[in-house]
Parts: sequence; structure tokens; C-alpha cells
Amino acid sequence: MRGVTEAIILHQGHVGEKDVYLVLLSPRWGRLSAVAKGARRSKRRFVNVLEPYSLIRAHLRGGRATLPPFLDQADLLEPYELLRLDPRRYVMAAYFAELTESFFRPGTGQEAYPLLRRAFEELHRAGSSPLLKTLFELQLLQAAGFAPRLEHCVRCQKEPEAPFSFSLADGGVVCARCRREEDRPLSGAALAVLRHFGRLSWDVLPRVRPKEESLSEAGRILEIFLKRILDREINALRVLKEMF
Ligand SMILES: [Zn+2]
Repeated sequence: MRGVTEAIILHQGHVGEKDVYLVLLSPRWGRLSAVAKGARRSKRRFVNVLEPYSLIRAHLRGGRATLPPFLDQADLLEPYELLRLDPRRYVMAAYFAELTESFFRPGTGQEAYPLLRRAFEELHRAGSSPLLKTLFELQLLQAAGFAPRLEHCVRCQKEPEAPFSFSLADGGVVCARCRREEDRPLSGAALAVLRHFGRLSWDVLPRVRPKEESLSEAGRILEIFLKRILDREINALRVLKEMF
């Protein structure tokens, strides 16, 4: 691997005394790890550019099957400094980053890059909100190929009629006739929010105001669905829930 790419820093760790280990998401190579040699010692070369959730231009070199490439140089494109200064923004950014890292293996996730970048811009600009969280979760599921199926009943494929349910196992809406005991009830308003968010352009976000009740119901369904797909708890979500 050799070349230059834009990238968002998903997280940062240390390797030994001197080096900084980074997990990045880039439009060119998807998720990747990189090592910034000597970055802990010499602050000069990477001054303030390796902070989590920053957008950088990464100059990469080397790397083989199991060895990550070296980050030779990094130019700061957007620091998104409020994502680290404001605790509410910070936990949401951590949640978005952890979710992205959980869904995409190294070498994949290029399609999630524009989404994560847009979500960080919005989080930086307007702060964290349940709306932003639910929108990101749904669109990340789409980017990862796990979009819930919301237009037709997942069992009979017909246009569903109320009362609706949601099947975690089949990943979508269930009509009144196909409903099984394990399905979760889903109101028409929450279904409408999910359908709307799946197609929503981020440009109109400031004007979107779903009913609080429908939004939180849609949010709950997505959270359970995400947990089921990943088959584990998301650490940042626990912190997020304590905070909101
Ligand atoms: Zn059905």
C-alpha cells in the first residue's frame, strides 16, 4: 500500500513507547490500520493531527498481509474539535466510530465513508440528538448491506397492513396476518420514520422534525436490531445511554 487518501480517525492506540496506532476509514481503502512511527516521542511531525474523529489526509507507505502500513505524514483537513471538547458530542462520535468499526472488516467500508463524514460534520455543527443517532444507524445498516426491509412484509412479500410488527430474525416489517409471537409491535408512525430516514438526504436534515414518540420507537427497534446483527453490546452505547 502506498499513496495518499483522505481518512477519518476512528480510534487511536499506542504501540510500545514511541509509536501511535490508528484505525482509519478512508474512501480509497475502506477501513485500515496504520502506524505513525515515533509519533509519541516527536510531537513535531504530527502536531495535533492524530486526534480521534479528525479528518486527515494520510500519506501511507508499506504494509503487508499482517503488518499495517506506516503513516509517514498527516495533514489536518478538519479537526472537528467540538467532537472532543463537548462530552455529548464526544460519546456520540465514539458510538458512530465504534459502530462503523464493528460493521466493516479491514479493506471494506468505502461506502460508509461519505456517511460517517457527513455525520461528523452534522454532529460538530448542530450537536448530538436522537434524530442524528437514528438516521446514522439506519444509513449505516444500509451501507453495510443490512438495511431492514420496510416496504413489503418479509414473510408474504405483500404490502403490509396495520397493525404492523417488526421481525428481528427476518430483518423487516411483518403484516398483521403473518405476525408471530416473537415479533415486536411497530406503530405506523415509527414505520413511516424508518422508511423516511432510509431515503433522507442530509441536506434537508435541519427541517426534519418527526414526532418524538415515533422517533424514539424507531430508535429502540434499530438499537435492538443492531445488537442482534452484531451479536454483542456496543460499549459506547452504554455510555451514551447513561448520558442522555
Ligand atoms: Zn405478510
